Amino acid sequence: MPNSFSIVPIPAFADNYLWLVHNDRKAWIVDPGEAAPVLTALQRGHLELEGILLTHHHADHCGGVAELRAHFPDLTIYGPAAEAIPGTTHPLRAGDEISLTSLDLTLTVLEVPGHTLGHVAYLGQDCLFCGDTLFAAGCGRIFEGTPAQMFHSLAQLAALPDETAVYCAHEYTVSNLAFAARVDPHNPELQDWAREARAQRARGEPTLPSRIGRERRANPFLRSADAALTPALDHYLGHPVGTDPLTRFTVLRAWKNQC
Ligand SMILES: [Zn+2]
Repeated sequence: MPNSFSIVPIPAFADNYLWLVHNDRKAWIVDPGEAAPVLTALQRGHLELEGILLTHHHADHCGGVAELRAHFPDLTIYGPAAEAIPGTTHPLRAGDEISLTSLDLTLTVLEVPGHTLGHVAYLGQDCLFCGDTLFAAGCGRIFEGTPAQMFHSLAQLAALPDETAVYCAHEYTVSNLAFAARVDPHNPELQDWAREARAQRARGEPTLPSRIGRERRANPFLRSADAALTPALDHYLGHPVGTDPLTRFTVLRAWKNQC
């Protein structure tokens, strides 16, 4: 059954996407780091903003909330209960279900700590809004949580059906793929993906959403246990990395931080 809504990226800052979910009259915005481009998009589409979905407390994800509330005082604002983001009207925990009734869309809340401690993701109708947790061919930096938390959060997302569309919050795909090719140089999926992503960027198009199936086949942060990554991890470390998946993930994330 075709979806009753469309999802379009609103570019913001250097490389953020604010995802606008809308039908022909009503709209919701995911992670509005700034209000101006959202207001412009709403005006152009003759859309009324009904609500906001927040994944975590960083300013580039929620900096536009106050201004949007000033324009639309009755907004429903969903956000993580663990982060108390100002303006939140409905704090959420893992397993909560929310209904964007005018869009005929029900979303389930996942808790995915690591990038921040209270980070949540929203999942429904094969769409995943995952903020700064999973990126196309990469993952978010671990600012507040532990590598173990991020590892388990990513494992939760990797277990979703292959066709799940990944609406992450940044256009990092080309640089993530360049790092992935160093870690996993013989993965044919990575080579195809890099060609596609470079062509999309050359045309000025977003590389998103990606799909969970592709992430599972090609994203090194979901594949840290794979033996194909061992030579690069050993070389980076200067000694054998061993087989423990969490250790391998931790080394990979530390390496990426230096790139
Ligand atoms: Zn963030």
